[in-house]
Amino acid sequence: MIRELHNIDIAPYTSFGTSARVEELIEWDNCEELLALLAQRRKASPHPTHYTILGEGCNTLFTDNFSGTIIRSVAKGIEIVGRNKEEVLVRVAAGEIWDDVVRWSCEQGLWGAENLSAIPSSVGATAVQNIGAYGVEAKDIIAEVEYIDLKDLHIGHIAASECAFGYRDSIFKGRLAGQALITSVTYRLSTTPKPHLDYGTLRPEVERSGNLTPMGIREAVMAIRARKLPDPKMIGNAGSFFKNPILPRNQVEALRRLYPTMPTYEVAGQPEKLKIATGWMIDTLGWKGKRVGNVGVHSEQALVLVNHGGAEGKEVVALAERICREVKEKFGVDIEPEVNIVQ
Ligand SMILES: Cc1cc2nc3c(=O)[nH]c(=O)nc-3n(C[C@H](O)[C@H](O)[C@H](O)COP(=O)(O)OP(=O)(O)OC[C@H]3O[C@@H](n4cnc5c(N)ncnc54)[C@H](O)[C@@H]3O)c2cc1C
Repeated sequence: MIRELHNIDIAPYTSFGTSARVEELIEWDNCEELLALLAQRRKASPHPTHYTILGEGCNTLFTDNFSGTIIRSVAKGIEIVGRNKEEVLVRVAAGEIWDDVVRWSCEQGLWGAENLSAIPSSVGATAVQNIGAYGVEAKDIIAEVEYIDLKDLHIGHIAASECAFGYRDSIFKGRLAGQALITSVTYRLSTTPKPHLDYGTLRPEVERSGNLTPMGIREAVMAIRARKLPDPKMIGNAGSFFKNPILPRNQVEALRRLYPTMPTYEVAGQPEKLKIATGWMIDTLGWKGKRVGNVGVHSEQALVLVNHGGAEGKEVVALAERICREVKEKFGVDIEPEVNIVQ
């Protein structure tokens, strides 16, 4: 199925819910049909079309009306493609809702995805964003990514080791940005217990329930998240608006001398660096719970910017820029958005 929509309001397609007119949106669930359409368009026009890719829109902010074509996968399917005693390989179509995959995997008693429960995402974006929570990142379970190369319309496969995964980062935001349309992601899940409980309050939450299974951990993660994070169905947001900066250890130690309560975190594989908490800096500046017009900073999570209703993307960006400036002035630290801003 291919669905071509024209001159639509993108608000219902993003979790921020800011309005913008979009010239064209193509939804697809069949790779061959999509390839045929793209080839036909290429033949009809001598100029290569630039396509913008959207998943569930939970990490994307449109700042203005958009004249161009957006492609969005609604392809579904979860398929076991390999298995041995310890592992199961599961190929999932890019348009599946990530949390449905986590629930399925926990129901099968498979380990690996449970800490990533309740992250609003399409499957395609789990690889783009290298989503992470409670000490686990998508890169820990991704085996391979399949994509359509929009430059020459061939289907490519890329192993996880080649995906340049980093903190909310991957090759799909770097060298292959706008070029690789992900069609499926293959995850490597474990049949033997591999619980990761050493992050935040997860261990006591699981111990309270006494249910040390993938489903038990999933339920604990969901309970903690529900207490801490705003539901986009209730108030528009895209989760953490900013990334947490990773800085040289000596710079962070100098900051700690000035601000002894500033939280810092070790970074796996980078002993010379430390991660600092942008939410703490924004909170220290007094922004938590503040409102400017239709936008604001969430009352429980200073890292989350919210649309109180009727906000334009430009208002969100103006607030974000103001916060970035103030963080730089007070702490001398540059912060950058985690959210993908479409202009
Ligand atoms: C309440 C809330 C809580 C959140 N909590 C977390 C969290 O704990 N951890 C975390 O990591 N994130 C979190 N996020 C952010 C968000 O869930 C992730 O970034 C998620 O991966 C976004 O998925 P999406 O499908 O909505 O992506 P979109 O916003 O639609 O797209 C994100 C990026 O991926 C690209 N993309 C999407 N699909 C494809 C595809 N098929 N092929 C190629 N490129 C594609 C887009 O072009 C864009 O660059 C949260 C967001 C919200 C609203």
